[in-house]
This record gives sequence, C-alpha cells and structure tokens, in this order.
Amino acid sequence: MGGPNPIIRSGAKVREPFRHRRYWPIPASAPIYRGMSDLGRPIPTHDPLADRIRACRICAERFAATATAHAPRPVVWFRPGARMLVAGQAPGARVHASGRPFTDPSGDRLRDWLGIDEATFYDLSGVAVVPMAFCFPGYNAKKADLPPPPICAHTWHGQVMDALDSVELKILVGGHAHRWHMGRQVSVTRTVANWRDHAPRVFPLPHPSWRNTGWLKKNPWFETELLPVLRARVAEVLS
Ligand code: SF4
Repeated sequence: MGGPNPIIRSGAKVREPFRHRRYWPIPASAPIYRGMSDLGRPIPTHDPLADRIRACRICAERFAATATAHAPRPVVWFRPGARMLVAGQAPGARVHASGRPFTDPSGDRLRDWLGIDEATFYDLSGVAVVPMAFCFPGYNAKKADLPPPPICAHTWHGQVMDALDSVELKILVGGHAHRWHMGRQVSVTRTVANWRDHAPRVFPLPHPSWRNTGWLKKNPWFETELLPVLRARVAEVLS
C-alpha cells in the first residue's frame, strides 16, 4: 500500500423487528473521511456497551510489542436497529488512522460488491460493521498484517451480537468471520462456493483486499453468480 504510514506511534441471531432504538456517539476525535461531514454529526445519547468497547485497552501490551508499536484505538461502528451486519476481520492501518471502518481500497471494493454507496454504507441505522477485532492488530517484523487477537471476539462479540437483534442479513468478510459466525473450519473458497446453502440471510465473502484479486480471477462465478444475488438482497434489506 503506497503513501506514508498513517499509524500514530504512542506509548446470529435473527429476531423479531427492533423493539427499541438507542443512539451511540461517534467519538469527537474521529476525523471526517472523504467529504462525509454529514455522517460525522454527533449522536445525542450514550450506550454503555459502545462506550466500554471504545475504552477497551486489553491489547495495549500486545500492540506495543508489534512492529508498529501502536496503542489500541477501537473502531466501533454499530447501533441497535441495524438491518445488515458486515462482519469483517480487523481494521487496517488506514482505518486505524481514520477511525471509520473500510476507509480504504478494500472498502471501495466491498461497497461495489454490495451495490451501495458510501452514504448508505455509513448509515448506522441500516448497516453495522463489526470486525473480529475492533483495533488494528499491527504488523509483524516483515510488515505483514497480524491476525485479529482472539481475545477481542471472546470479550465483546457475543454482547454486540445480542445488541444487534434486528439484523436480517449477515455479510461475512474473510475466513476469521466465517469461522466465528458459521463455526466452519473449511477453506474460504469452499465456504464461499457454497454460498447458496446460507443465502438469503448469510453471505460468506472473501476479503475484498487487493491480495485477493487473483482469487477473483480464478473464480469468475463470484462476480457473475453470487454478486447479482447479493446486491438484490442488500437492496431489499436496506429499502
Ligand atoms: S482489539 Fe478488542 S480487546 Fe483488544 S484492545 Fe481493541 S477493543 Fe480491546
């Protein structure tokens, strides 16, 4: 990925329609991303779960020991009442800097797969983005991405899924999300190839990273067969 490293160094369940709606704050420190100032407006009340996650520093020592030596910065982007869940892997370096999920080329590709624009993707009333770790895991000594620390999902994921009791559609992005949400240990390719077994409530996808461009070329059915059905389902759920 080109450009300067943006890291700041420093020390399913599906239930009945929603019964209540709570509003969670966007942190004041979160910068505006690509002209989305209308989405950066403050949200008036607090939710204890979101605030507890934002304050979480469980992985401080783990992150300090990585090649990036960064501090935790949980990227929390969900609100009860959301109808679609995007279950991702973990923030990358760019998202760690922006404080908003999928503000990178992977996000551009994912939104294309889903057939929605940025305004729809970042509308908390419709879409929740919940990765397997809320913080950027860092790089190892070879500058490769580290996996999401399992303690994050163990600590938070069950509580968050309980709060998201209006989700009608789950988009599972990458093998880590497949394993947690589907309990599967098979390959990503096999899981995605069997997408019809899980639609229309769940769609397992590969990660939209540039690293998977070769995978997309080898598996043209993903674009010609899966994506049209996925886009129609997303439009139906968010309409
Ligand atoms: S990755 Fe998860 S558990 Fe670790 S500090 Fe961030 S929010 Fe806490």
